[in-house]
Amino acid sequence: MEIMKRTADCGSLKKNDTGRKIILNGWVHRKRDHGGVSFINLRDRYGITQVIVDSESDGGQAELATVCAELRNEFCVAVEGTVRERPADMINPSMSTGEIEVLASKIVILNRCETLPFQIDEESSASEDLRLKYRYLDLRSGAMQNRIRLRSEVTFAVREWMTAGGFFEIETPTFIKSTPEGARDYLVPSRLYPGKFYALPQSPQLYKQILMAAGFDKYFQIARCYRDEDARGDRQPEFTQIDIEMSFVSRDDVLSMTEGLFGHVFKKTLGVDLPAQFLRLTYEEAIENYGTDKPDLRFDMRMRDFAPFVEAGGFQAFKDALTQGEARRQEAAEKGVTSAGGGVKALVVKGKADYSRKQIEELEAHAKIYKAKGMAWMKVAANTAAPGGIALEGGVSKFFAEDAPRITRELEAEAGDLILIVADASRKIANTALGAVRSKLGRDLGLCDAKRFEFAWIIDFPMFEFNEEENRWEAAHHMFTMPQEKYHPALESDPGAVKGDLYDLVLNGYELASGSIRIHDPELQKRIFKIVGIAPAEAEKKYGFLTEAFKYGAPPHGGIAPGLDRLIMIMAGQTSIKEVIAFPKNSFAASPMDDCPSDVDQKQLDELHLVVK
Ligand code: ASP
Repeated sequence: MEIMKRTADCGSLKKNDTGRKIILNGWVHRKRDHGGVSFINLRDRYGITQVIVDSESDGGQAELATVCAELRNEFCVAVEGTVRERPADMINPSMSTGEIEVLASKIVILNRCETLPFQIDEESSASEDLRLKYRYLDLRSGAMQNRIRLRSEVTFAVREWMTAGGFFEIETPTFIKSTPEGARDYLVPSRLYPGKFYALPQSPQLYKQILMAAGFDKYFQIARCYRDEDARGDRQPEFTQIDIEMSFVSRDDVLSMTEGLFGHVFKKTLGVDLPAQFLRLTYEEAIENYGTDKPDLRFDMRMRDFAPFVEAGGFQAFKDALTQGEARRQEAAEKGVTSAGGGVKALVVKGKADYSRKQIEELEAHAKIYKAKGMAWMKVAANTAAPGGIALEGGVSKFFAEDAPRITRELEAEAGDLILIVADASRKIANTALGAVRSKLGRDLGLCDAKRFEFAWIIDFPMFEFNEEENRWEAAHHMFTMPQEKYHPALESDPGAVKGDLYDLVLNGYELASGSIRIHDPELQKRIFKIVGIAPAEAEKKYGFLTEAFKYGAPPHGGIAPGLDRLIMIMAGQTSIKEVIAFPKNSFAASPMDDCPSDVDQKQLDELHLVVK
């Protein structure tokens, strides 16, 4: 079949194209028949153009009318016609081609379309599995086309900025040695080495560090990463990172390079100006103020310390939380270990004194998901009879009535506000649980404007976290992070107090990137392996190639890895990364379109020396 090749696309014809004879290629988006005239909305990835088939004005061309009668939605066609201005009352300002229409003289059907499993609309309303089974149809929607376009533009802008900054784009292998830490590796059996396996990289971490040892100085890669984790939330088994590493840098060099990168990407692709420097919060400030290390800063609503009011008030549960917390702190201190003790934290919800008991209970239930034992509340009211003209009402207010002026002043609460309080012998639980309530309120109260982008750096993270289940310390980020120098002498004696030279970039409540200055001293690296419970022989077997590389003049280095899927998701105002990946897996790590994962032949298994149990 000879294709009538397009001479214009469906998104760009304007009034000044009037009179042009053109050919369009595309899909029938919608067709309407109106007393002898058919209106076809012809769609391609550039837009939609209205095509008119008017049998009378065309002198009753029977052939055109017959083809037109056959057309159904999503038929792929070539249309030849002439551009004409739309009558004034038909102009559609919401379409890029809204000023014109094309009077068809010939239509050729390039391919037919069977009954559709769902309509191609601007946004698909079909179920997730149906969308993924027919992903090629789902991707035809205007919204998906736009998101995939944005992704391509962002990737291009990243390459543009990095290359201009002197970074080399270097590919690292996707068949690597398995060194699982944290997540599970995806394994690929070796045919040539019976019983041996390659792993797919969870990140190019060790390779990028070795590239620094190799003298490449500034590296980046749009890198596919694989983690075999249980399906939870919005995880994908494979995802993409903008992987970056630099030599001879300190933390602030990596931070400002990243600020420049995002400034460029947002300006170039969305026309949005970002601040030249992003806010910096220490991990502790983030936890104390927002109860999370990935705060959504599109709204303020900071948590406050309620402990100063506990002693004077007679509320026993608050007192107990602090006494028990103090006992825990002392017990830990005797073992030479740092513990934060207990906490009583308050959140002022502006103007929400009208919340019903049921609404407050819902918030309390949310706090309990994060291990809070309960959540206390009080309402602030104007009361001329009360001291200072302000009173606390309801909930636990009777214990704090006398202190109302001081409490409201220090919490910056006014009449009409609701105060929520979580107390716990673990300060971490008090912070996290109330922080989760803060995040929920942000969403419920519509404070999270999808068009605002609030970046912040979280710095001074703890280097290690205690894994209660396995009764051992593990690296909070990864084991290659440099502990801040002042903690080097006490690494082994008080791991919980050690801060790492590590940083996260958060955007609108999501962790967008993590990175760190790395260890480049083989001896220090070995100490870290030991603290996280990797015996010297095992460390040598798994990571010996890295410590070996460090022995030959490896430079000081550091880097970062922003998640590309998440970045595009936030830029596109979405809440799932599946919306910005062309072919994602479903929530069960499977692909309904090609039915993957799938069985393989016995012959393949034999070649790979595998027996399925
Ligand atoms: N490789 C790290 C990660 O995937 C990021 C980094 O430290 O650069 O989280």
